[in-house]
Amino acid sequence: MTAVLVLNADLGPLHRVTLRHAIRMLLREVAVVHEAEPDRLIGVYPLPRVVRLVSFVVTRWRFGAGPAWSRAGVHARDGRRCGYCGREATTIDHILPRSRGGRNTWKNTVAACSACNQRKGDRTPAEAGMVLRVKPSVPTWAALAQR
Ligand SMILES: [Zn+2]
Repeated sequence: MTAVLVLNADLGPLHRVTLRHAIRMLLREVAVVHEAEPDRLIGVYPLPRVVRLVSFVVTRWRFGAGPAWSRAGVHARDGRRCGYCGREATTIDHILPRSRGGRNTWKNTVAACSACNQRKGDRTPAEAGMVLRVKPSVPTWAALAQR
């Protein structure tokens, strides 16, 4: 079935839906036709290629939050290199150690070799006198997919 692109009210692309789903959105008046197939009607509507939501949907959960955290994801993000010395990473280091409330988040974790991880132990990098080569960030889906 033909996929129809759904735009947010601010014209930001959200996702694709089936034509049937798009028509249902038009019927429920949650969306309007933004771009249509020329000269083709489906019922009373021009056959939609792109529909636009009538009211803005907050999509932080969809795009802003990025991919869910995972150990494999941290290694992929960091290119399997230790965040401290650049050698091959085999472990995940929690910048604020888990024993002190550090969580499994993109910004609190880096790939690390076991030597650096052991040396750092239950300390923050500053306490251990260790310097991170990179500032850990939330990777984009695209960056993870490339690895
Ligand atoms: Zn290291």
